Amino acid sequence: MNVVDPFRNNLLTRHEVGKRLKAQGKLVVGWSCTSTPEEIIHSMNAVPVMVFGNLENTKLADVHLPVNSCSFARSGFNSVLKGDYDYLDGFVTSRSCDNRNKIFDMWKHYSEIPFIEFINTPHTRTEGAYDFFFNEILRFKSSLEKAFGETISTSGLKKSVHVYNRNRLLLKKVYELRKREPPLISGAEALEIMLSSMIMSKEDHNGLLESLIEEAPKRVDPPKSGVRLLISGSVLDNPELLRIAEIAGGNIVIDDLCTGSRYFWDPVDSDSDPWHAVAERYLRKISSFSMIENEERFKHTIEMTKQFDVEAVLIFTLKHCDTHLFDAPQLINELKNLGLPALHLEWEHSQRGLAQLKTRIEAFIEMVSGVG
Ligand code: SF4
Repeated sequence: MNVVDPFRNNLLTRHEVGKRLKAQGKLVVGWSCTSTPEEIIHSMNAVPVMVFGNLENTKLADVHLPVNSCSFARSGFNSVLKGDYDYLDGFVTSRSCDNRNKIFDMWKHYSEIPFIEFINTPHTRTEGAYDFFFNEILRFKSSLEKAFGETISTSGLKKSVHVYNRNRLLLKKVYELRKREPPLISGAEALEIMLSSMIMSKEDHNGLLESLIEEAPKRVDPPKSGVRLLISGSVLDNPELLRIAEIAGGNIVIDDLCTGSRYFWDPVDSDSDPWHAVAERYLRKISSFSMIENEERFKHTIEMTKQFDVEAVLIFTLKHCDTHLFDAPQLINELKNLGLPALHLEWEHSQRGLAQLKTRIEAFIEMVSGVG
């Protein structure tokens, strides 16, 4: 058995995982943006799970959405219409891009999920924005309490912060294994580990991470040496894309993704009042591209390239994802100034176009490694 198999298996059977949690008496609450303060949901004895679709066709969602809407959000909505998420007790999203915001309205209108909530996360980090967001956090707490008849206590939230911070710490340790040359965990495997953390109980995931950290140094099948790559983008839920780059001679040693380092890099301050600490963390964490003021985010990307000894960068942007499309040229410039080659790839959240992406990635890796 490969050291990553337990994570992969959970990921591949994520709806069964969700249904099992329900059968064990847990509430299961879906979320769709990594700015959703999961700890608050967790502290009412619920399991927050990220909602995402699959690479199949989106016929059901296509009836309701414009052709130029993001295929990732479309695919999640399609899964909801298909009934894949019928086991959810609730769904929460946080204000991010227009696609996600508008699809929230669709969820409300067409899904049968009993509790649907929206957190109005500001797109700046001024003091006024913080005060507003802190009140949003308290409103969200009351909304959950009212809907589920639970009381969310400060001590309960503290415990949840502890569980989530433990997960963040362990994930960082796994990422440390990628600093080696060659890395001990491949990029595709790291993505599977990351995604699985978003769809199962954090306590169970922490247990799996502890075993992985112990077992990985003894593994008999580590990745081979290759061009050390950073991968940047928004959400990426298709490990196949990373496998293509790794088979072509790359090693994705670090990422700058919503479904990667940006999800867990910053802990919640466990020494402060947890309500304020959660608000601070989710407003001031390494932001997604929907936040204004992208300097901080680029600083994180550049820091990652240094820490992980990166030789080149792949930027994956989903078609019609305005926020990322606006930022990509600026990021490429910043990387160029550091002498780092970058390839920008637009992709659809589907099986279509993979062959073309493969050709471009192979040519880029050949060029960077001086082969060919
Ligand atoms: S990929 Fe882009 S457009 Fe799609 S939901 Fe994410 S941020 Fe929005």
